[in-house]
Amino acid sequence: MSLYGRCEAPGQAWKIFVDMGSKDVITWTVMCVAYAQNGFRKEALQLFQEMQLEGRRPTSATLVAVLDTCAHLAALQKGRQIHSHIIENRFRMEMVVETALINMYGKCGKMAEAMSVFEKMAKRDILVWNSMLGAYAQHGYYDETLQLFNQMQLDGVKADAVSFVSVLSALSHSGSVTDGYQYFVAMLQDFSITPTPELYGCVVDLLGRAGRIQEAVDIVLKLSGCLPDGILWMTLLGACRTHNKTDQAKAAAEQVLERDPSHSGAYVVLSNVYAAAGDWDGVNRMRKLMRSRGVKKEPGRSSIEILNRVHEFLEGDRSHPRRHPIYAELDVLNSEMRAAGYIPDTKMILHDVEDERKEDMLFYHSERLAIAFGLISTPPGTPLRVIKNLRVCSDCHTATKYISKLRGREILVRDTHRFHNFKDGRCSCKDYW
Ligand code: ZN
Ligand code: ZN
Repeated sequence: MSLYGRCEAPGQAWKIFVDMGSKDVITWTVMCVAYAQNGFRKEALQLFQEMQLEGRRPTSATLVAVLDTCAHLAALQKGRQIHSHIIENRFRMEMVVETALINMYGKCGKMAEAMSVFEKMAKRDILVWNSMLGAYAQHGYYDETLQLFNQMQLDGVKADAVSFVSVLSALSHSGSVTDGYQYFVAMLQDFSITPTPELYGCVVDLLGRAGRIQEAVDIVLKLSGCLPDGILWMTLLGACRTHNKTDQAKAAAEQVLERDPSHSGAYVVLSNVYAAAGDWDGVNRMRKLMRSRGVKKEPGRSSIEILNRVHEFLEGDRSHPRRHPIYAELDVLNSEMRAAGYIPDTKMILHDVEDERKEDMLFYHSERLAIAFGLISTPPGTPLRVIKNLRVCSDCHTATKYISKLRGREILVRDTHRFHNFKDGRCSCKDYW
């Protein structure tokens, strides 16, 4: 079962599991891990529940697997339940489980709860510190990230490349290019850390955010060919998009596509750059290129956990049993948003369609369906947590800001790039993502 799990064949593992006469706790754990490792998240949680019903005592490996699954799904209720289960059943708190708890609370945007686990720990290794640093940094809590980093040094734990990724991305969020450089230099000199492509990516992001595109380009060019540089070009492409640098965006996209011609993200970002510049020939060229190369845009998918169940929505999805109230809520929201000054940003839509139809397509992006479902399914004031499989588009970003203010809700959206914490009409990413 373990073999099949590791070879990405959890279905085969499941067959063996079902056929087994007697199962012990190891069997259950191996199956649960096989599901979790392969992204069969609902199945992993389901199996864990069955395991509990059978009165099996989970091992720390099972707990880590299910907590990681909850972190992935931002399934806070389920994660909290597992945490209470651990406390009620007096499991010995092992460091790996505590780390998984910190990570789970962090990914769900619950810093206080992550910190409370962190503070109660008797011993902390580098993984524990990195989990807590990562939790703060991902959500743009830069002061807390830097404080924690200092505390880590005082505790005598030596920072590694992962710790510095958190520190640099926190500084990037706060726009402190100079401080970022200082930390980067300290990292090279005092910590003798060899920079990973990810760390260089942080430096490029730091410069990009601050609008210092040319310096970012210079760094990427200098490094190009020395290390796997796809991530650097992609980061640069994002920066060029935000600052409307069409020519540099084009050059960066070419580099990404040279390395990975099927990178649908690069085509989409470049199309958006062309669209923003009103270059419709460019948009059409991109579309033709994607078609001729057989590249498909991944469909948008968002999920939200309500009452312990994870609900998933596709773009324009009408399969949910509560679709009618969901769409009605979106209609109400749209008119309230317009009254508050919202203007739909249709220029980012690639499709050749009339304006009205474009607006329709925007209004029913998967994250909006998930948010609307969250609004109608929870009492006023309840924070919402949504996971999106693609980068959030600029229009949904604007709309979510309005929704957070209009409905007085805190809305956490995790996309492939970062966490967006919407509150009171603002987002923690400060509109750069
Ligand atoms: Zn959108
Ligand atoms: Zn944001």
